Amino acid sequence: MEQINVQCHCQDNQKHYLNRAFDRLRLSESQRELLLASFRETTISIPLRIHENGAESVRTFSGYRVQHNHARGPFKGGLRFHPNVNLGEIRALAQLMTWKTALVDIPFGGAKGGINVDPKALSVTELEELTKRCCQKMSPIIGVHEDIPAPDVGTNPQVMAWMMEEYSKTNGFRPAIVTGKPVELGGVKGRLEATGHGVAHLIRITADEQSLDPAHCRVAVQGFGNVGSHCAKSLAAMGFKIIALSDSRGGVVAQGGIDVSKAVDHRKETGSLSGLSGTKAISNAELLELACDILVPAAMEATITCDNDIAIKADFIFEAANMPITHMADERLRKRGIVIVPDLIANVGGVLASYYEWVQNLQQYPWDGGLVLSNLEKRLSFVYQQVQKLAKERQVDLRAAAYEIAIGRVSYAINLRGF
Ligand code: NAD
Repeated sequence: MEQINVQCHCQDNQKHYLNRAFDRLRLSESQRELLLASFRETTISIPLRIHENGAESVRTFSGYRVQHNHARGPFKGGLRFHPNVNLGEIRALAQLMTWKTALVDIPFGGAKGGINVDPKALSVTELEELTKRCCQKMSPIIGVHEDIPAPDVGTNPQVMAWMMEEYSKTNGFRPAIVTGKPVELGGVKGRLEATGHGVAHLIRITADEQSLDPAHCRVAVQGFGNVGSHCAKSLAAMGFKIIALSDSRGGVVAQGGIDVSKAVDHRKETGSLSGLSGTKAISNAELLELACDILVPAAMEATITCDNDIAIKADFIFEAANMPITHMADERLRKRGIVIVPDLIANVGGVLASYYEWVQNLQQYPWDGGLVLSNLEKRLSFVYQQVQKLAKERQVDLRAAAYEIAIGRVSYAINLRGF
């Protein structure tokens, strides 16, 4: 049995994939050290007055911001609110951001942040207070040309609006300090759905390449938050058959296909997918094991491990979530001929749209609607093609090729700048 400590999984995975790439690129020890080292790791504590079971108490939350590498531009990466957040996980996710921004060739580095809080357990006022205090404490290290946070698990446009408000109090109106804002506050149309839509766009390209008819292509999506729900919506609009959906409370399956808009409405009304008409209940474990063509893990890390990989029947896995597959399971799945489109490419639509938002904020010149998603599709198609081409040339998997391109670019920038 594979021993998984989810807290260490992200670090183990990064280490494994990076070492593989470093060996292939024949990087020296000093180059490896430079690429691995975080520029800065900040830990903050945030005391907050909260109300639980009718009583008031003070709880202290821990927050982190890891700024990994800025050789190619300002640090960029999400802010996560989740009870399991820890420094090791944030460090690995910050590194991943460096490779993602390099792979899509946008002028950003990589960072990630988080607070170990369950946002659902706080009232709206408490969440606003927590966010604004987090921003106060992070203020000295973030900035529109230094480090630009964005939404991730447990955060959303409202949280970004609070961050922007707090930062602007002492720095003047600064919409470019965060991306993923509400459209009314300098956000862009398309950012909310960008990550999920990007995954769907790559699935459509793959289906085209494989001559798969979307109407007969069965897709199962695990996770129905920002990424999972928008991916499912875009896929449905492209004509794919969504046979299963799930969130943390469990899932639903319908072999004839699920009406995704109805699923969104049902979840809004009832708070879960359970009881969606025309579907049967399944567990998250069962969803992963369904007979389907395409599996989209869009929830959390380490959901596919050596304990359940053998039961996976999909031909393609698109990593909409960050690091949903352990590296040992990744190898075993590939040996069985399952194609894995890695997080590095699959979910990069989010940061791409964030870049377009940041550019518009800096120029104070909003683009016409629709341009964000059309630019995103164009850039994603190009990057996917580049990665597929290199993978073919080198006879390696897509992840190895993607890391090779990204690390090569970061390493080159480091040398040019003389870090
Ligand atoms: P979210 O908080 O909006 O949604 C997470 C979803 O996963 C929810 O539906 C939740 O119920 C579900 N979930 C949580 N634990 C689960 C479990 N054990 N089993 C099944 N479902 C579970 O978060 P999100 O923004 O959609 O992010 C999802 C993943 O995508 C994360 O790995 C995140 O890092 C990655 N990602 C997000 C973005 C973005 O733009 N939001 C960009 C790139 C990558």
